[in-house]
This record gives sequence, C-alpha cells and structure tokens, in this order.
Amino acid sequence: MIKYAEIGTKGKNRYVFEDILCKKLRARLKPLGAFEVRREYGRIFVEAKSAFDYDEAVGRMSKTFGITGICPVWEVEQPTPESVDQRVAEYFAEEYDDYHFTFKVHVRRRDKEFPVHTMEMEARLGGVLLDRFEEQGLSVDVHDPQVMVEVEIRNKAYIYSKVLPGPGGLPVGTNGKAISLLSGGIDSPVATWMIAKRGVEMQAVYFHSPPYTSERALEKVQDLGRIVARYAGPIKLHIVDFTKLQLAIYDHCPHDELTIIMKRYMFRIAQEIAKREEADCIVTGESIGQVSSQTVFSLGVIDHAVECPVYRPCIGLDKQEIVDISEKIGTYETSIQPYEDCCTIFVARHPVTKPTLAQIEESEKKLVGIAEPIYEEALNTARYIWLK
Ligand code: ATP
Ligand code: MG
Repeated sequence: MIKYAEIGTKGKNRYVFEDILCKKLRARLKPLGAFEVRREYGRIFVEAKSAFDYDEAVGRMSKTFGITGICPVWEVEQPTPESVDQRVAEYFAEEYDDYHFTFKVHVRRRDKEFPVHTMEMEARLGGVLLDRFEEQGLSVDVHDPQVMVEVEIRNKAYIYSKVLPGPGGLPVGTNGKAISLLSGGIDSPVATWMIAKRGVEMQAVYFHSPPYTSERALEKVQDLGRIVARYAGPIKLHIVDFTKLQLAIYDHCPHDELTIIMKRYMFRIAQEIAKREEADCIVTGESIGQVSSQTVFSLGVIDHAVECPVYRPCIGLDKQEIVDISEKIGTYETSIQPYEDCCTIFVARHPVTKPTLAQIEESEKKLVGIAEPIYEEALNTARYIWLK
C-alpha cells in the first residue's frame, strides 16, 4: 500500500495526480516482473503477480516522487472479526522475532457493515496480541508505542506496521517541464533533483568546452544525470559545444566579467533549448554568495539575459546543506571526482562582484558581429542523449 501526502490536497485534480503516480509506478516496476498497480479508496495498491526482487522493487518505489510511504501489507480477503484476529496474530508471528517492545492497534473501519466497532476492534486485537506474545515481552503503550499496528477494514482488510519512507514531493509530469543547467559539480544535480521532486519533468544542458574540458568531465555529468534520473525519470541531456563562444568572450570582454558574460550566454542557449523542447523554465544550482558570480547583483544581471523564469532551488542553502542532500540522493561521490569545469578554467583572478546591467551590456557590445554566428553554431550543433 502506497501512501502519498500532498496529492490528497489537490481537490478535483486529485485523480490526475493519482493516475500519473500509478503510471510512473507501473513504468518503474515493469522491468522487475508482473505488477498490478491500482487506485482504491484514495490509496494506491501495488500487487506483485509474479516472482520479483523485493529490495529492488522497494528501492524503485522509494525513489518515486509523490510517495511518502511504502507499507508492506497483509490482506484478509473477506474480513470477519475472527479472521482479522487470526491474521493479525499470524502477521505478528511472521514479521517479528523479538517481542520486547510496546505497541498499539489502530483500526480504520471503512466498511460500516463490519459488525465490531472501531474502538472495540482495537481493544480486541490488542488482547489477541497480548494473549499470544505478552510472555515474550510484548506490552501496550497507547500514548507512545514503538510499533503501531494498523488495520484498515474495507471489502478486504489490510494489516501493516512498517512504513518504508518515500521521497515525498509530487509525481513527475504534474508540473510542466524544465531545462536544468547541469555541470559536474555538487550543486546542480541537487537543484535538478529538487525541482523534479516538485513534479517537474527535467531535461538538462551541459556546456562542454573541449579541449579545455575532457571527455571524462562530460561522462561525469552523464553519470550524475543518471543518478538523478533514478528519481526524476529519463532525462534528455543536451550537450552544447561552448569552446568557441568562451574564447570569443575571453578575447573581447574584460576578464573580470568573464564568468557573468559566459553565464548569460549559457542562459540564452538554455532558453532556446527550452523553447524547442516546450519547457517552461530553466534551473541552476546557484546559491547566494557562494562565489563571486553568485552575488545578488551578479545573479540579477545574469537573469536579464533571458525572459523565461529561472529557478534556483539551492538559493538559500549553505554549502553543507547542499552536500547533505547530495549525499542523501547519492550524487556526492560522483560530484567530487576531480574533473574540470569550463567555468573554473576561464575564470578571472578578481571577478566583479557588483556588476551592473549597463556595464555588462556595454561589454557584450564588443561581441556584436562576432558572437552571433558562433552562438548559432553552438545551438545548431547541440546533440543530446537520454539518461536513464
Ligand atoms: P555546481 O556545483 O552545480 O557546478 P558551482 O558552485 O560550481 O555549481 P558555478 O560554476 O558558478 O557554481 O555554476 C553555477 C551554476 O551554473 C551551476 O550550478 C550550473 O547550474 C550552471 N553551470 C555551470 N557550469 C556549467 C556547465 N559547464 N554546463 C551546464 N551548466 C553549468
Ligand atoms: Mg561548477
């Protein structure tokens, strides 16, 4: 039984969200065997119809946005008070080895025909478990139990006491599409993950600068994209050759403004790709003050290069907080591999921290007649691969 939280607050759209979540689950589980995924009374049930790898299936569900909990349940086909008593005792015998803990039974009775009332059924099942396991250490604590035994009674009854955590968020595909600027660093994979978590379908763009950046740096970005794709679903990665543009900027613009002007070109290209792909926004891993190109002044000037919204989910996070997320989602180890990024190669010794739009636009005028064909070429030679 799959638990989901925020979807439940979507009113009339609730079914749309639930259907997308069911579809995502089907797609994720399909390679592992035959599964039935169904929606029933505001819950989603996943039932295996063939042998399957339990850990892999749970692992995939635990990376599916929209899910807050995965509850392995035992079913009672045609519940009667007696059959539920018996099944709860069997469940306990099978699922636990050591009974030195406190518990409480919580019953949800959707089937109002069921002859025993909720509180009475809770007391009754508590009694059944105590009779059987009290001597082995089991005791009741109604205020702060270590184990909560949940019994939901509908046309079937469902018994569970363990909830494996899901990633939360909203199902991918319920909130438009974004192009994420994905570099090989720590921040942008986290940013990509955070926006995907809110239900946005992600594509990515990487600016490649051979021979200044190696093939290995590109592979690293692909590896990172694949890790994020375990959560976000397949990611189309656009690879843009950025070398000529960078050299032109380097040759014609003040060196203390290089990073800002480069970023503005990255944003312009990302916006073009977003238009082609019918994406609604761009995403970056920037965070206020982390480096000189990420002061509020610099970020403001960079934003003026494009019309589409720019989302920066790491904006208010400290580096350590971003690192914590990257460790949690599994990108950290890959991110810290030492392959160079184009921004670190063409970087000025004393970059501007308080640029103005007028100043940067003035510098960019030096590229008139030079940058346009290179820019067009970069766009026209962009290639893509799917990361799964
Ligand atoms: P990250 O850890 O994500 O690499 P960073 O702290 O190194 O970020 P910058 O190098 O200033 O910061 O880059 C800021 C953002 O710009 C990155 O988070 C990423 O979204 C984008 N970016 C930088 N370089 C590239 C690149 N080569 N290709 C695509 N996006 C890039
Ligand atoms: Mg970087």
